[in-house]
Amino acid sequence: MVNEKRLIESFMELVRIDSVSGEEKEIADFLVEKLEDLGLEVRVDQAGEKVKSNSGNIIARLRGNIKKATPIMFSAHMDTVVPGKKINPLVKEEKIVSSGKTILGADDKAAIAALLEALRIIKENNIPCGDIEIVFSICEEIGLKGAKNLDIFSLNAQMGFVLDAGGQVGKIITTAPSQNSLQIIIYGKSAHAGSNPEEGINAIQVAGFALSRMKLGRIDEETTANIGIISGGKATNIVPDKVTLKGEVRSRNEEKLEKYTERLKKISEDTAREFKAKAEAKINREYYCYNLSPNDQVVKISMKAAKDMGLQPELCASGGGSDANVFNKKGFPSVVLAIGMEKVHTVDEYILVKNLKKTAEYVLSIINTVISGENLNE
Ligand SMILES: [Zn+2]
Repeated sequence: MVNEKRLIESFMELVRIDSVSGEEKEIADFLVEKLEDLGLEVRVDQAGEKVKSNSGNIIARLRGNIKKATPIMFSAHMDTVVPGKKINPLVKEEKIVSSGKTILGADDKAAIAALLEALRIIKENNIPCGDIEIVFSICEEIGLKGAKNLDIFSLNAQMGFVLDAGGQVGKIITTAPSQNSLQIIIYGKSAHAGSNPEEGINAIQVAGFALSRMKLGRIDEETTANIGIISGGKATNIVPDKVTLKGEVRSRNEEKLEKYTERLKKISEDTAREFKAKAEAKINREYYCYNLSPNDQVVKISMKAAKDMGLQPELCASGGGSDANVFNKKGFPSVVLAIGMEKVHTVDEYILVKNLKKTAEYVLSIINTVISGENLNE
């Protein structure tokens, strides 16, 4: 039923519209029109004002013709990472790729294209369905800010399917980590490097000692840590008085997350003290982990819908956060589903045409699973 040519064209059209985080207005305007044409009730919320984007989140509702069906929500994010401007997508044999100078933006426009295609098919064929709500969020890539400012309980939906994971369709993310961001500023003391270095305290060197004492990378099977940015120093002839380290800790275990973040903070403070410097650590909770069970309705539906298409569903843990972390934390059960995108956040990003198609079919299969209300335990 999926119209492959139309789907590819729609995807290419979407990725050609620039929408790096914070600049989603153009694509939002485009999508509002498309959704209204498809007969959905559409609104844009006020989240943009709070997170300094030129657009809010889009929330749209298709009134289903099966009244007793459980209302469900599908979501995807409108923003992309950089380099994400002037994307020039190409169909190369079975694959859609970028020119190699930018990302492709299949993350997450493959999901948006698949959802639009599914909605077109529903409309054209008058396919029976319950109420379907669509959320297209802003600023996902810069800290899930759109989702954080979305009033999820303004929806009727009982559960959410977030189309935003790499890998084969049928992969279902049921657990994802919490994340703390960490900023450590080390204050030393400046001095002339040639005439009176003994008066200085070299903040770069103190940072170096602190870093050498930190275990980074994979800490255990559910915890990771990284320092990703270091900046400081003004000139080679000045003993540097300030260095900033920025990093993060992730874990699917809350206790371990807090413990390990504290540990990195303490190493910095202790090391600084040793050198008569000072360390100041700022910790910020970016998002919370979630753990769904295979018995949760949203997981059962995702599995059954995959099986119905002849796919082997696979329940997975993710190492990254998504809008689903926010929705689950707010008490709105949501899974993240793979949409076939590969090598996201790189200029080598691509998606196979057959996977783009499969994602649209999967959306339809989920809708069908919900209304058929069959025994989900089989
Ligand atoms: Zn994404």
